[in-house]
Amino acid sequence: MSAAVGSSFPAVAVGQHRRRGRAAAVQVRSSAMAAAAPILDDLRLRCATPLPLLRHVADAMAADMRAGLAADGAGELKMIPSYVYSLPTGDETGLFYALDLGGTNFRVLRVQLGGKDRRVIDSESEQVSIPKEIMHGTTEELFDFIAARLSNFVAKEGGTFRIQKGRKREIGFTFSFPVKQTSIDSGILIKWTKGFAVSGTAGKDVVACLNAAMERQGLDMSVSALVNDTVGTLAGAHYWDKDVMVAVILGTGTNACYIEKNDFIPKLLHLGPVTGNTIINTEWGAFSDGLPLTEFDRDMDAESINPGEQIFEKTISGMYLGEIVRRALAKMAQEHDLFGHSFADKLAQPFVLRTPHLCAMQQDRSNDLGEVELILRDVIGVNESSLAERRAIVDVSDCIVKRGGRLAGAGIAGILQKMESDSNGQVLGRRTAVAMDGGLYENYPQYRSYMTDAMVELLGPQDSEHVVVEHTKDGSGIGAALLAAANSKYAAQSST
Ligand code: ADP
Ligand code: MG
Repeated sequence: MSAAVGSSFPAVAVGQHRRRGRAAAVQVRSSAMAAAAPILDDLRLRCATPLPLLRHVADAMAADMRAGLAADGAGELKMIPSYVYSLPTGDETGLFYALDLGGTNFRVLRVQLGGKDRRVIDSESEQVSIPKEIMHGTTEELFDFIAARLSNFVAKEGGTFRIQKGRKREIGFTFSFPVKQTSIDSGILIKWTKGFAVSGTAGKDVVACLNAAMERQGLDMSVSALVNDTVGTLAGAHYWDKDVMVAVILGTGTNACYIEKNDFIPKLLHLGPVTGNTIINTEWGAFSDGLPLTEFDRDMDAESINPGEQIFEKTISGMYLGEIVRRALAKMAQEHDLFGHSFADKLAQPFVLRTPHLCAMQQDRSNDLGEVELILRDVIGVNESSLAERRAIVDVSDCIVKRGGRLAGAGIAGILQKMESDSNGQVLGRRTAVAMDGGLYENYPQYRSYMTDAMVELLGPQDSEHVVVEHTKDGSGIGAALLAAANSKYAAQSST
């Protein structure tokens, strides 16, 4: 192992790209580079995801899913029932709205559905950013703000968009915060996350809050479906492709949901025998069993706002990959003088190095890694770097991104294997699609291929031929509108 690492950082190569005046400094630095190599070596070892480890992760994911389906709190995964019993069929017709609240922006959207032949006749959307004072205000202020913007948007309805006579406008509400769902159109907020600190909402039904605010605005509209963004993504993708059984988000955070048979959900059996399927929101970010973690992961977790929680998310999602790399680089710099002395302040700042920076560095195919040099200078304040140092940074990034991508792949394989073993060949024995959304998957080609590699290794060449990963950009908005349609209060009329 150390021989391999040593040979990828030949000290001679460093000097060849240096001007004469810097020779002395470079010599010192190349020995720092050699001293830092064991850290890289160690990092590779600790982040390694060989097949047996992936297999353990996939199996543990499947076992944890079963535990969470049996009883709340029995496993790390919450396995939250979505109460979506009616997926869009394609027959839906009419005008439906969606509202997507999950971050610092919210989106409003309308879609005119034309049934089997015409499908989505037209759709349009608007994005509104939420002012800080609203994010830190009261429940009424937040929902009044949302309802007012929604009302504005509804007022601009026209052209191909037309509400059927005698009908109230219906809306699907994508709400990506932890909710205890109680039916398709109600759910209690457990707690705000992602920088929201709105007072008085926790413990309340967010649908009732929105309905009340719409009423205060004089907006005659009602919420037909409350959905998590993964659930919206699955519904939206399933509308176009009936083989979509799983949806995964790999963006700032991560989550996954899938279609489960109701009789495999023991914790719902008290509701009486239920036939058919529902979508289960796994909340897989909370998984942690058997993950190959490093001191950098542990330190980042300890200093996070939710220590000990969301370990899978902290290992595989976009918010964290850059930060893990930064921590590894900071150690190499501190203990082995990587980069000399000029950088320290910036490199010590949590979250200065972002996942898109790693991505840009990994796309640099130039001989002198000029793009890497620029990022080092602009982002972490390293004014001078040797080629060997730049290569080392790319190697550290690759190590963390490879681990993340491969573990994400193992998670997906775990879900598919669980579904397969309950269905006797109905999942891997035929075409099955995984809908995928999120900026990390979309923009990071190496992450994407590491993820697929792991899936192929775990599922085997034959079964993995049947699995397609479909990228669905922002599908959760339309998905929520489609769920509002599929769960319309007027559904009995429209299905005929
Ligand atoms: P969110 O998950 O917040 O809803 P997105 O799905 O758009 O938003 O994902 C945004 C995340 O995707 C960013 O936080 C970042 O981690 C990752 N990302 C965005 N652009 C890139 C990029 N060029 N390379 C790698 N990762 C990226
Ligand atoms: Mg998103």
